[in-house]
Amino acid sequence: MRILATNDDGIYAPGLWRLVEALREVGEVWVVAPDREQSGVGTSVTLHTPLRIKGITPPLPGIPTFAVEGTPGDSVVLALGHIIKGGVDLVVSGINEGANLGMDVFISGTVGGAFQGYFYGLPALAVSVASLEKVHFGPAARLALLLVQRVAGGELPKELLLNVNLPNVPLEELQGMEVTALARRSYTDVIQEGHDGKSKYYWIVRGKAQWDAQPGSDVLAIRQNRVSVTPLRGGPGNHRAADALKKILPEVFQELKRGGSPPARRRGRDKR
Ligand code: MN
Repeated sequence: MRILATNDDGIYAPGLWRLVEALREVGEVWVVAPDREQSGVGTSVTLHTPLRIKGITPPLPGIPTFAVEGTPGDSVVLALGHIIKGGVDLVVSGINEGANLGMDVFISGTVGGAFQGYFYGLPALAVSVASLEKVHFGPAARLALLLVQRVAGGELPKELLLNVNLPNVPLEELQGMEVTALARRSYTDVIQEGHDGKSKYYWIVRGKAQWDAQPGSDVLAIRQNRVSVTPLRGGPGNHRAADALKKILPEVFQELKRGGSPPARRRGRDKR
């Protein structure tokens, strides 16, 4: 299978390359990602300025890699419509440094990249680890591989948009994996005003998140050191994805905890 990897932390972010390293086990991975950090740009696509694409020497040899002077959404649109000829089977965005939970999912560039893949009719995953420092990428990369294998093997519906978050703990400390819903957050943003000599300007300064961490929410799962998997789209397919996830997640979690290389899953290993 052919996989498009993107992110919002920029093309050289370590999380992206840990993801690529894991996913090349299961298919042909292409990287098309923003040339710099684009956190918080959501699903946005650049329509008012031209976009430039630059081929990059990848940190991992043999991976076709392109930097886009734009958003994760731009990267996915250019990858699917221009850079990659012959189609893509799946889009994975991440591994983001920092959680993407609750209402914040709708401004997340990481999730935005996955949304764009989903808009184009592809199964898509966003993967984040809930910390900005000393991030444990290993369990997240391995879980991405396990979930992609499930998609390839037809155990998850093709119409799929998953937002996956892991607590920032070593594998041994993960307490489980849960199908969750987005928590609500109350916003405490502050508007700071200044003057540049010509006119007034304003900064939106994000306040500390106040979460309503109900049972079943993504935020509560992360607080309890559990992996949170949120099926994002609305409509009947959402229940299909949730039901399929509930069936496979206990086994996926056992495989995740077992460590080492995941068992070969025959149906998912056809490379094209
Ligand atoms: Mn980010």
